[in-house]
Amino acid sequence: PEEGSSNFIHTFVTEDIAENGQFAGQRVHTRFPPEPNGYLHIGHAKAICVDFGTAEKFGGLCNLRMDDTNPTKEDTEYVDAIKEDIQWLGFTWDDRFHYASDYFDTMYELAVKLIQKGLAYVCELTPEQMHDNRGDLSHPAISPYRDRPMEESLDLFARMKAGEFEDGRMTLRAKIDLTSGNFNLRDPVIYRINHMKHHRTGEKWCIYPMYDFAHPIEDAMEKITHSLCTLEFEAHRPLYDWVIDNIDLPAKPRQIEFARLGINNTVMSKRKLRKLVEGGYVSGWDDPRMPTLCGLRRRGFTPASIRNFCERIGVSKVNSTVDYGFLEHCLREDLNENARRTMAVLHPVKLVLTNYPEEQTEEFEVENNPERPEDGTRSVTFSRELWIESGDFLEEPVKGYRRLFPGNEVRLKTAYIVRCTGCDKNEDGTIKTVYAEYDPQTRGGNTPDGRKVRGTIHWVDANNCAEAEVRLYGSLFTVPEPEQEEDFLTVLNPNSLEVLYGCKVEPSMKEADAKTAFQFMREGYFCFDKDSAPEHLIFNRSVSLKDGFKP
Ligand code: ATP
Ligand code: MG
Ligand code: MG
Repeated sequence: PEEGSSNFIHTFVTEDIAENGQFAGQRVHTRFPPEPNGYLHIGHAKAICVDFGTAEKFGGLCNLRMDDTNPTKEDTEYVDAIKEDIQWLGFTWDDRFHYASDYFDTMYELAVKLIQKGLAYVCELTPEQMHDNRGDLSHPAISPYRDRPMEESLDLFARMKAGEFEDGRMTLRAKIDLTSGNFNLRDPVIYRINHMKHHRTGEKWCIYPMYDFAHPIEDAMEKITHSLCTLEFEAHRPLYDWVIDNIDLPAKPRQIEFARLGINNTVMSKRKLRKLVEGGYVSGWDDPRMPTLCGLRRRGFTPASIRNFCERIGVSKVNSTVDYGFLEHCLREDLNENARRTMAVLHPVKLVLTNYPEEQTEEFEVENNPERPEDGTRSVTFSRELWIESGDFLEEPVKGYRRLFPGNEVRLKTAYIVRCTGCDKNEDGTIKTVYAEYDPQTRGGNTPDGRKVRGTIHWVDANNCAEAEVRLYGSLFTVPEPEQEEDFLTVLNPNSLEVLYGCKVEPSMKEADAKTAFQFMREGYFCFDKDSAPEHLIFNRSVSLKDGFKP
């Protein structure tokens, strides 16, 4: 290992590839095995970083494998989306792309061999009976079919495959230990009947291997050295090893478990995310409020910020919940350094400079990013009529208010100092126009006489600007732990999306590259929504400017 931080997985791997280790002289080989039954979320990003990252760290390889052994909810749509998301994060698998379903024939043959070795049998207990017989660990489980002749099991298994029996009628079970204290070793089911069309193999199969049987075979077929998975599989490891030890396979991978990522203020199970999508509570899997990678991408999260987040939360053996604010903190750090600064007025009110010549226009050169001079400058026009934030004017100021109110001076960012002279109101009492006089001596925002001007506000030239729709996002939920709720839909936040129309932005936004990240000065970090077009600009607020996260 050359660089980056280390964790307990790296320690195990280092031992394993050492001279006397289990994988001495071998190249580290991991895999990321998503089930194509939904879109990847931030939890998967952690697994991706662990799987691809561990391989990277040891100069090894990582496979991408679609774990498609359960046809029920799998679909090709998800396969493409999963690939896109992993590539977006910046990981590559070259030609190391596999489908677990490619091993269906092999798995079937291996199951037959297990029966021939006396290590598997066809069982006719109903799922309910089996549950009753296996569930209570204080009693040994029973199956009256355990000792049926091998020939009978071979015949029944072939007929299961041929489609002779309905779903649930019988199963193939590994013969391990009905008295084991580990539930998973009590003759686990390794094949079940499921008459269902598979997204790749179609109607070819009506029996499908169970995860615990299939996964070690998939790993071994691909000569994986380290099969990294989440903690809930820890108690399955003896079964993983049993399969590896009792079946003749091309490799003997090692399973290592690490803690799942949990984040507050959101839900991550695919089942719940699907409910949000199918119930129309969000606009789709890529709704910017979703914790999916496509949602985070649309929200303006950068691959670097997500990888950095995964690196910093670390890898552990204990499940814990990370504050959503920390994810935002990582994004804010990235955008603070890299986002282009621009001025945008989200709640516009007109400011008229009564002493500025009607037909006059001037230009200011503004830095695109003070943190990165190499990003250059752009020119911003200025004229007699400007847009300012309605919140930057108060007819009657509250204590400590330093922005525009009659008689007060403020700096218009990079332009001039102006003194407010009054306002006009609409019939409903809202402010229609704010009036001010500019001080021609203060071009660039400096006062030649050295007088202090405390407030600085941003603005957009009303005679030269573009309109935009701006979407502001809040948490999808009203409680920090929606996963704990009996019905998580009852704690949905009805105000998680606020849409602002008629916002005013610099005209150069019409030509900006769709991938650019922006800091709207004083407002937050924004990106173009995927539906934005030059004639209808749409921005998403990625994250606010203020960091609410307390480490
Ligand atoms: P879900 O319960 O959300 O459907 P899953 O584990 O069934 O998730 P898979 O597609 O099987 O989803 O996951 C692929 C890989 O990603 C697995 O190795 C899994 O352990 C890992 N993974 C899924 N969720 C998380 C998480 N929250 N934190 C870390 N790893 C995760
Ligand atoms: Mg899974
Ligand atoms: Mg799942």
